Amino acid sequence: MKEIPLVDLKAGFAPIKNEVMHAVEDVLTGMHLNIGPNCRSLEDEFAAYCGVKHAVGVGSGTEAIQFALLACGVGEGDEVITSPHTFFATAEAICCIGASPVFVDIDPLTYTISPEAIEKRITKKTKAIIPVHMYGQCADMSAVNNIAQGHGIAVVEDACQAHGARYHDKKSGSLGNAGCFSFYFTKNLGAYGEGGIVTTNDVQLAEKVRLYRNHGHKSKYEHAVIGYNGRIDEIQAAILRIKLRHLEEYNSKRRVKADFYNSFLKDTPLVLPAEKEGRTHVYHLYVVRSKERDRLQDFLRGKGIQTGIHYRNPIHLQEATAFLGYKKGDIPGVEKACEEILSLPIYPELEEESQAYVAEMIEEFYS
Ligand SMILES: *Cc1c(COP(=O)(O)O)cnc(C)c1O
Repeated sequence: MKEIPLVDLKAGFAPIKNEVMHAVEDVLTGMHLNIGPNCRSLEDEFAAYCGVKHAVGVGSGTEAIQFALLACGVGEGDEVITSPHTFFATAEAICCIGASPVFVDIDPLTYTISPEAIEKRITKKTKAIIPVHMYGQCADMSAVNNIAQGHGIAVVEDACQAHGARYHDKKSGSLGNAGCFSFYFTKNLGAYGEGGIVTTNDVQLAEKVRLYRNHGHKSKYEHAVIGYNGRIDEIQAAILRIKLRHLEEYNSKRRVKADFYNSFLKDTPLVLPAEKEGRTHVYHLYVVRSKERDRLQDFLRGKGIQTGIHYRNPIHLQEATAFLGYKKGDIPGVEKACEEILSLPIYPELEEESQAYVAEMIEEFYS
């Protein structure tokens, strides 16, 4: 039987293996391991890629969100509006700095935060909004920015799933006060370990993130704030610089795979991903919706096709967030999506014949 994984990291590594091995060797020969030359170059190269002035490498996407919020002045007792339809870390980062997440519903077509829902939840305590560019498509950033500007609050993009996604003529990471990216190994730009980065045009914000990521270290023996051990690893930075050069190609391959699924699946009862006018989706995940999601997933598993659910349980109904007091029914659009979504295999090296097989098995399920 054919086996099709959700992602295939080995297929991505093979073509760049020699380059990566040399880069790792160079780092270990040089032994500049703490915010060394690769970290600095990655920051410059990633800032240029996103079209922003500054980028600061950190230890993970979660830290990127934490440090960006802190640098925006968010802290104890403040509220941050976001959607509970995201990876848990978005809300966790808010809680870890002593602020409270305020959850609002999503736009059902793009799975990104609903701007109409934001306005109603703004209070005197609201300090920031975190739009999440879910699955690789940017949120409705002009609407989000308009609301934020009207109330004098910060916008921190969670772009952890959307490296290279475009919103009109701009890239993710350049659309708010700060952009947060993860380099977890399954992301569109993934390290072979952990990593993250914060992007911004605001030099003061960038300087603050530099302090938070490195124990508040200002100059030799001087610590300006209570910070964190949140640096990016030099070996990962060297690997990411190589992969960054291929990112546009990886993303355009993902878009080709998405087009292929779109045409193959258009006559099935599945709801296919919607790409909004003016937004370039980079398909970190290709997510369909089905009323029989669990049965379809079991059926595909039986045919050797691995699928995923991103994510099954919304954050506002998790045990960890029970203290926030949400109950079932509070965020209906998200709760409904969680019952129906299914992520099909997608990665740049996915073969057309594998996609044809996935489509064929989906048709078989419905026939
Ligand atoms: C992956 C991810 C994160 C967290 O990134 P880590 O590098 O794993 O800490 C945050 N938000 C979203 C939407 C993500 O997909």
